[in-house]
Amino acid sequence: MSKLMVSVSGVRGIFGETLTPAIAQKYAAHFGIFSKRGKILVGRDSRTTGPAMFHAVVSGLLSVGCDVVDLGIVSTPTVLLAVEDSDASGGISITASHNNSQWNAMKFVGENGMFLFPENAQKLVESFSQNVNWVGWDKVGKLTSDEQATRRHLDKILAIPYLNVEKIKQKQFKVVIDSVNGAGGVISPKLLAELGCQVIELNCEPNGQFAHTPEPLAKNLKQLETAVKENKADLGFATDPDVDRLAIVDETGRCIGEEFSLLLAEKFILSQKKGDIVTNLSSSMASEDIAEEFGVKVHRTKVGEINVGKKMKELQSPIGGEGNGGIICPEVHYTRDAPAGMAIILAYLAQTDKKMSELTAEIPHYYFAKDKMEIEPDMLDSIMEKVERVFVGHKTDKTDGVKILGENYWIHIRKSGTEPIIRIYVESESTKRSQELVEEVKEKLS
Ligand code: MG
Repeated sequence: MSKLMVSVSGVRGIFGETLTPAIAQKYAAHFGIFSKRGKILVGRDSRTTGPAMFHAVVSGLLSVGCDVVDLGIVSTPTVLLAVEDSDASGGISITASHNNSQWNAMKFVGENGMFLFPENAQKLVESFSQNVNWVGWDKVGKLTSDEQATRRHLDKILAIPYLNVEKIKQKQFKVVIDSVNGAGGVISPKLLAELGCQVIELNCEPNGQFAHTPEPLAKNLKQLETAVKENKADLGFATDPDVDRLAIVDETGRCIGEEFSLLLAEKFILSQKKGDIVTNLSSSMASEDIAEEFGVKVHRTKVGEINVGKKMKELQSPIGGEGNGGIICPEVHYTRDAPAGMAIILAYLAQTDKKMSELTAEIPHYYFAKDKMEIEPDMLDSIMEKVERVFVGHKTDKTDGVKILGENYWIHIRKSGTEPIIRIYVESESTKRSQELVEEVKEKLS
């Protein structure tokens, strides 16, 4: 049985096993105390354990004196934006993101509307070992609700200055949206309709019955690919259950791969506003080619959206994100936001009068191979030590795990922050070469 994963990214486990309501209540209470017992906004994705988790989290927060605002079923970026635009001391998004139904988790949001910066998150993690100081009956917080958070999020996206909303509307794009019955159902179809699209909804009931494996990878999006072809749509969008990752299917019914979501967004935004790009060490080297085209630089951070968002804020970068389909558009906020990404992609299509496949073809193509190795949690560190031994003598970057920098390829090996696995990412000039490199790594490490 896997352990409860407690990290700077939050607390994640299998519901009823490692993550029980009592555990959720305790961690929420600690977060409430950490947030100076102020007001906390709580939203959740659609998964079936959401209501049980929600009540446990709220109970923990109220019982340490926090006032709680229930945002209902909303995307994670909606929670983040709601916190930023309010006087709240923080927020909790109850979601296990792209993980399957048996998982749930809490993502902790700081008062600035971003996930906790790693140094603060570390302090929170340290506080988990202390006893909870509950308040008396007369100090218990109040619970209220706010049903307008999604509306405000939509308005902020529609106000991105680079969007020519009228031009997008004129195009009447036919779009299939696959929300995997996650929280996307409450925001994505509405956004697309407000951008004048003919919307074909696929799995847009936010009922938590995930229609396919929820991670928006090409292999999980066959239904969307077919629907785009059958409906002769201009494109298809897919999101993960908490709507911070975006994948695209082009008009031929081909999933173009989640790396291209960010690359396309970079190309469009840089054509509107110049500035350095920020992305993580595991994202495509095509960003460097795009940056060169516009005469700007790429800054690479550790994996984890908070590292990218923090750096973007520091540099006032106009666009950045993560290659897993995580687009960060600072005009909305410094966090990954799939609905904002959809609006940017549609704006790009409208501006160029090109098809999705044509825009994709304009981006330099490299080929990824990604794999993971499941490791016993207490063996994770020794495997990473082995990586260093195995690749001794190679040019490496140790900002985050080990990145081996080769001639026309790179290999990035790191521990996941959320699961007991080692992630292996390779990018090179051919799929065959990348796959060979992954197999070589796995062989050397097993
Ligand atoms: Mg997610």
